[in-house]
Amino acid sequence: MNPTKNGYFGQFGGRFVPETLVKALDELTAVYTRELKNKAFNSKLAYYHKHFIGRTTPLYYAENLTKHLKGPKIYLKREDVCHTGSHKINNTIGQVLLAKEIGKTRIIAETGAGQHGVATATAAALFSMKCEVYMGEEDVARQAMNVERMKLLGATVVPVKSGTKTLKDAINEAMRDWVTNVENTFYVIGSVIGPHPYPLMVRTFQSIIGKEAKKQIMQAEGKLPDYLVACVGGGSNSMGLFAPFYNDKKVKMVGVEAGGLGVNTNKHSASITGGSVGILHGTKTYLLQDKYGQVLPTHSISAGLDYPGVGPEHSFYNDSKRAEYKAVNDKEALNAFHLLSEIEGIIPALEPAHAIAYLIKNARAFKKNDVIVVCLSGRGDKDLDIVNNQL
Ligand SMILES: *Cc1c(COP(=O)(O)O)cnc(C)c1O
Repeated sequence: MNPTKNGYFGQFGGRFVPETLVKALDELTAVYTRELKNKAFNSKLAYYHKHFIGRTTPLYYAENLTKHLKGPKIYLKREDVCHTGSHKINNTIGQVLLAKEIGKTRIIAETGAGQHGVATATAAALFSMKCEVYMGEEDVARQAMNVERMKLLGATVVPVKSGTKTLKDAINEAMRDWVTNVENTFYVIGSVIGPHPYPLMVRTFQSIIGKEAKKQIMQAEGKLPDYLVACVGGGSNSMGLFAPFYNDKKVKMVGVEAGGLGVNTNKHSASITGGSVGILHGTKTYLLQDKYGQVLPTHSISAGLDYPGVGPEHSFYNDSKRAEYKAVNDKEALNAFHLLSEIEGIIPALEPAHAIAYLIKNARAFKKNDVIVVCLSGRGDKDLDIVNNQL
């Protein structure tokens, strides 16, 4: 579904930003709309998809998992084999290429665990752009390996000392930087969040996941899938998979949120299942907030799902019942991480382990001839320390 001219999906989305950013967002909307229709831009994008990211990614029939669960037929969309290890590169290559085409010379980004920072630094290196990545001081300490990676790629990591010193504060700082330096600077947001046109633009760059999966499942099964299942942090890998199937009404969609220690505790990141409607980072959407509208601290075993909001299009999918949103807790995700590693030979990131956990938990609720496409958004190498510390 396409948002209104002002970026609304139903009541969600829009632009809740300082006036100084409105002009920049208008300019971005104009160039993005123009370039997406531009043949030269699209053929460059296709070139880097193939030769740099390594697309098309496989749609792999997980035969062992299917047999083990004695349930529906499970296919994995293998975004874990993308260069840099997750789907995030689909978006950063798109946005940095766009920045280059419109003559910007400096890239900024926010990062939580560092995955989006690494993917942005990678794209900036590829297109010879200066790159600065805002990262909460807490995260800089927790994610030393990704900080090293960004530095190796030539980026500068800027530690953020405000607030809880985590992702949401890094986004605030990046927005402040953008307001000041908008003439030469392009802000690469890492998920389908933020003010219009970001949710639409990021979705468009991630839609390659769903477009490929649709062709691949038609080839493999001769029909569309019965279900799409994907984990939801900000919501970009899931929306990338879901959006190309929006009009295929028979295809059911499930977004799996991070239930942390339980949605009924205050230690989770389930923005839709456990949140309420408000404004975060320039967009109207579901978020975790207290009764005064202050953003609540979040928790998840998977750093990539540890965000207090969700993309506005997901909020719309939820309220219009186009998709269902369910939470899976840390322990269930961890078990799924081990199971997939042991029986399929694929070590998933802890984020998509939530999607796998949802299948394990609900295997009996599906019909045996149901066909399910799961987005395996990234590989688990980055999570080994966290997993080992659980033992
Ligand atoms: C960042 C990340 C996510 C969560 O982000 P979305 O925008 O919800 O996709 C999921 N999986 C992996 C591997 C990630 O790195």
